Amino acid sequence: MTIPHPDRSSLLARRARVLAPTHRLFYDQPLAIVRAEGVWLYDEQGRRYLDAYNNVPVVGHCHPAVAQAICSQASILNTHTRYLTEEPLALAEELLATLPPELGNVMFTCTGSEANDLAVQVCKVVTGGTGFIITDFAYHGSSDALAGMSPEEGAPLGAGVYTVRAPLRRGDAASFGEQVRRCIERMRATGVQLAGLLLDTIFSSDGVIAEPRGFLEPAIRQVREVGGLFIADEVQAGFGRLGDSMWGFERHGALPDLVTMGKPMGNGHPIAALVGRADLFEEFARRRHYFNTFGGNNVSCAAARAVLRVIREERLMQNAHRTGNYLLSALRSLAERQPALREVRGAGLFIGLELGVAPESGLSVRAQTRRVANAMRDRGVLVGVTGRDGEVLKIRPPLTFGVEHADFLLQELERALSDSP
Ligand code: PMP
Repeated sequence: MTIPHPDRSSLLARRARVLAPTHRLFYDQPLAIVRAEGVWLYDEQGRRYLDAYNNVPVVGHCHPAVAQAICSQASILNTHTRYLTEEPLALAEELLATLPPELGNVMFTCTGSEANDLAVQVCKVVTGGTGFIITDFAYHGSSDALAGMSPEEGAPLGAGVYTVRAPLRRGDAASFGEQVRRCIERMRATGVQLAGLLLDTIFSSDGVIAEPRGFLEPAIRQVREVGGLFIADEVQAGFGRLGDSMWGFERHGALPDLVTMGKPMGNGHPIAALVGRADLFEEFARRRHYFNTFGGNNVSCAAARAVLRVIREERLMQNAHRTGNYLLSALRSLAERQPALREVRGAGLFIGLELGVAPESGLSVRAQTRRVANAMRDRGVLVGVTGRDGEVLKIRPPLTFGVEHADFLLQELERALSDSP
């Protein structure tokens, strides 16, 4: 197969002409990528980059089993959920088998935003409330309702949306339930009834928070006491990434009423879902119709089934645990030698490195974190930036990431941290 080698500057010029400026590129020197395989991305010059950022290709870029599943299903049948067909049912059964028995039904969507939007609608219809609690730098999606629940994106909070501080420090985690209780009181004082608590179970945009286990439970209790529901947004944390459980809420011993998932679900093919208690969906269906043309189409379902199969057969959750622990402990020893690394947080292959200000550099922490991410890119390792102050390097690779990849990342990170600004 011949691969076209587009000229980077002409791609940049065409992009500026035809795409809205809301489409933003990563890195000071944007990458022109022509192909990908496993944990590697290849640019137009044939240079390879270690992908330590992309969680969507959870089983590795262009995994043959997923490509094969998509191709063969596309040549047999691709339709929607208004006919009796095998793939959406088989996928729903296989997904439900990974979740607690209390969560009994699936609604398919194409994006995480649609899944969260639907979860919000279910909460409103079932509880009769209109109020939602989120963390103060969360991201939950791009629809109008969810832009109002995604302070990371800078839009104003939606009507009835209240925030609690993301528990970045251990003391905050211990009082998270109390914060939620006070938030419910504030809401009540303005005459708003709580419908739900919506949390990304790894707090990705807030800066990655995995510890201490169990800190969600008191908050969920407060919500249930006033008739609200708990939505676990697993779009980031789900599908085995955290290493010791398939879903982020499980690490906290929590039981959600509704679970949303997407991103890695089709390894790059757009498929997402809302899973929840059957009684909630029954009540919702009594009062509302719902149809999503492409949600649950046979090809997307075939892709997602292949993803679940590969995660199981290649023991990728176990790999996330093994490689993640290796990387976390190596990063913690690096932090002892490197004062620029303020804190290492995370679980499995979802890691946040919080950087501190280095006064001698003359850079703000935001500029310093960006500088390191750009230096890593120049050195052939892709990481991202997150957190309220842009102070956290986000490491979230495909789950096929091995110890040898972790070693390369560690070597280049140490060099990038030491590079003079
Ligand atoms: N929830 C979380 C936690 C996310 O990170 C995202 C996407 N970044 C979404 C929801 C929305 O997913 P999508 O982009 O597929 O609509």
